[in-house]
Amino acid sequence: MLFYRSRNMLRPGKLPFYAKKNEKTNLRFRTWLKIHTDPKELDEKFLRLHQELFAGYDCSRCRNCCKHYCGTIPVDEVEKDAAVLGLTETEFRTKYLKEKPDTDEQAYQTKNMPCDFLQEDGTCLLGDYKPDSCKKYPYTDQPDRMGSLLSFLESTSVCPVAYEIIERLKKEYGFTSITPV
Ligand code: SF4
Ligand code: SF4
Repeated sequence: MLFYRSRNMLRPGKLPFYAKKNEKTNLRFRTWLKIHTDPKELDEKFLRLHQELFAGYDCSRCRNCCKHYCGTIPVDEVEKDAAVLGLTETEFRTKYLKEKPDTDEQAYQTKNMPCDFLQEDGTCLLGDYKPDSCKKYPYTDQPDRMGSLLSFLESTSVCPVAYEIIERLKKEYGFTSITPV
């Protein structure tokens, strides 16, 4: 079977195939959610599934988020992060960072993807000082899930937990590929 037996979770390497396969249904489900569900109830369901599915899930065996995205380092965290690694700000920027293109965000991004801070054992070189955006990914315990459904759907091809959450939500709401929107 293609799933992590302990949690019935799809293996990270299989996500792009299954996310693509479900893409049209999931986009229809997004529209259905917007029309038929209450945003507060949806947030509660996301939070419950997030807590249930991340409990005991070993992200160090996946790290797809660190492999598929560059790290985003807010400008005001550069000094602190440089100090964590025993570097000056200039050394830190020169070694790891580049300007973030096409954005008003006050942030740099790592030079490479997978993220430059990803270690072979699946840990982050920045440890507890990793950016908030990394700590929150895939944002499934955050409020206003209704307003972020498109970016959430994108994350289902990267994050096994996000993939499982959308599958469970469809089951809970009784939504199938033939449900009229
Ligand atoms: S900063 Fe750390 S947690 Fe964030 S993407 Fe890079 S390796 Fe992953
Ligand atoms: S947050 Fe998702 S994509 Fe990132 S390591 Fe954990 S399960 Fe994998």
